[in-house]
Parts: sequence; C-alpha cells; structure tokens
Amino acid sequence: MKILVTGGAGFIGSHLCEYLLNQGEEVICLDNYFTGRKENIYHLLDNKRFEVIRHDITFPIFLEVEQIYNLASPASPIHYQKNPIKTIKVSTLGVINILGMARRSGARILQASTSEVYGDPKEHPQKESYWGNVNPIGPRSCYDEGKRVAESLMFAYQKQNGLDFRIARIFNTYGPKMTFDDGRVVSNFILQALKGEKITVYGDGSHTRSFCYVSDMVEGIVKLMNSKKFTGPVNLGNPNEISILELAEKIKKLANSKSRIVFKAIPKDDPERRNPNIALARKKLNWAPKISIEDGLKKTIAWFRKELKSTC
Ligand code: NAD
Ligand code: UDP
Repeated sequence: MKILVTGGAGFIGSHLCEYLLNQGEEVICLDNYFTGRKENIYHLLDNKRFEVIRHDITFPIFLEVEQIYNLASPASPIHYQKNPIKTIKVSTLGVINILGMARRSGARILQASTSEVYGDPKEHPQKESYWGNVNPIGPRSCYDEGKRVAESLMFAYQKQNGLDFRIARIFNTYGPKMTFDDGRVVSNFILQALKGEKITVYGDGSHTRSFCYVSDMVEGIVKLMNSKKFTGPVNLGNPNEISILELAEKIKKLANSKSRIVFKAIPKDDPERRNPNIALARKKLNWAPKISIEDGLKKTIAWFRKELKSTC
C-alpha cells in the first residue's frame, strides 16, 4: 500500500514510518522539520520503498496515496507555544489541505488528535464521550482548540464528502527519539538525571499523567487505521497513571543518578490529572499497551545515554 505519513521525521512519526516499512508498505514521509529531525529517518533512506518530501502542510500539496497518517503538528507545550499562530494553522489550514488530498485521492485518513482535547478534565479517567474542559484563550488553546477543530473537520468532510477517517486521541507518549529540547517531562527528567542536574518538578509533583511507550502507541495507531469503520475518536494511551513526583523518583533510580529533585512553579492551565479510559480500543481494536513504565524508561534512558555520549 502507498502510505503518507505527515510529521514523519518527528518522534512518533519516525517510529511509524519504520514500522510501516517493516510491514512491507511504501511510505512517503512529509515534514517541514519544524520539530522533527533528519537524524530520525536517516537509517530508512536506503529503503527503496521510502521517500521523503520537505513540505509545510499549511500549503496545499497533492499526492496519490491510499492511506494518510496526519501527524504533522508540534506536540510539546514548549514547541507549540513558541509560534501559536502556526500551531493553529497546522491543525486548521494544514488539516484542510490534507483533507483535500484525501478527498481527491480517495485515501483513508487518520488524524493524530490528543488527550489535550479534554483540557483540564473534570471527568476521570477520560472516556471518548467526555466533552472536555478547555480554556479557549489560555496558553494551551492554540494546540487544544486547533486539535478540536481538526476533529470537527473530519466529521464535516465525512458528512459532506463521505470521507473515510479515523481519529486517534493520543495520550502522553515517550521513548527513544524524543527531542532533547522539547521540554516534555520524560526527556527533561532523563537528561537532568543523566547530566547530574537538578530534576525540575513543576508544582508539588501531585499532578498525574499516564505514559505510553512509543512502540505500543505505533501499534495502536496502525490497528486503528486498519480497523473497520469508526464513528468517533478512540483514546490511545497507557492507563497506568502516576504522579510527576513518582516519575521523577523512578527516573532518578533507573538512571542511577545523584540528582536532586527540586520544585518549581506550575505552568498556567497545566492539567491536574490525565488518564485514558481505553475500553473502546481494547474492545474494537483488541489493543492494549504491553510495555511497563519501568521497561519503557530503561529503553529510553539507554537511548538518551547513547545520544549524550555521541554529542559530547
Ligand atoms: P514531534 O514534534 O516530534 O513531531 C511532529 C512532526 O511534525 C515534526 O517532525 C515536525 O517537524 C512536523 N511538523 C510540524 N509542523 C509541520 C507542518 N506545518 N508541516 C509539515 N510538518 C510539520 O511530535 P510527536 O510527539 O511525534 O507528535 C506527533 C503527533 O502526535 C502530533 O500531531 C501530536 O499532536 C500528536 N500527539 C503526540 C503526543 C505525544 O505524547 N508525543 C500526545 C498527543 C498527541
Ligand atoms: N513537568 C515537570 N517538569 C518538567 C516538565 C514537565 O514537572 O521539567 C510536568 C508538567 O507541568 C506536567 C507534566 O509534567 O504536569 C507533563 O508535562 P509535559 O510537558 O511532558 O506534557 P503535557 O503537560 O502536555 O501532558
């Protein structure tokens, strides 16, 4: 099958390209390298079934493909708040451009949505039926509201044009190839632990997240794409919820680090608790994450250690 992965040079996208190539598919990776890295896909360049296009999806493009994974969008709060207008554009203009392509080529599209559509959730764990609690004018709104429009666009195109779509509501994902400077908690803590720097917990550390290892996420995304028709979004994430302080202690221990844990101010609108209800994915996709947080962190720490050595 000919498959387009937008954001294919990013963290999840590059793992997805590799997985699809290993399945024997023909893959076009499209990226503007805003937050992605050529290094993430170097090792795939010799594969004759792999092609790379440098393009910004906020400008139109037409490619003849059978499936489109639309992952293009900055994902970490630091990255998506750097240029909020661009962040809104990627999930609105960008998604409209990719939908135009899907409509013309008859491709099925999987939109990478996010747990952030639930905002600072008042329902816990979050089910797909929950409408969320998003601040429409807060610092996170360029991303949250953008992704909510992207979901809405899928439904509008389905209604008017019969679009065949899937929506993955992706919860916090981690693993090798996370960017060093993206400010996300897992990469921050691992780097701080390995460098012997202070581990910076925001707030009192009681905020929670539920972390999914990237190979589990990629499997879930591919299963969702190839599933029978879905009428709504599907949560993909690991239901194992932990506090940020617990995460800091775990990483410190697994990295064998002497770093001190320090507490800093919590960013505005930082969601207090986040945990996916994955009953739908379990039932309809027969999918659930397999990698424990300990095993996933060990692999991720090993990768960061190696990268740090090669950059020194
Ligand atoms: P990432 O930043 O590593 O990857 C995003 C990729 O999109 C990068 O390669 C970037 O260069 C590219 N990109 C950004 N704007 C673009 C544009 N205008 N045109 C073309 N390419 C563009 O992020 P990630 O963690 O791999 O996230 C991938 C997708 O999954 C995103 O859509 C994100 O919103 C979603 N998601 C990720 C997480 C997570 O925990 N990683 C959680 C929820 C949702
Ligand atoms: N966080 C932290 N220290 C850091 C980076 C993040 O305590 O150095 C916290 C952050 O405030 C949030 C959680 O970790 O409560 C997850 O943050 P991240 O940016 O990784 O993802 P998101 O907030 O988008 O879930």
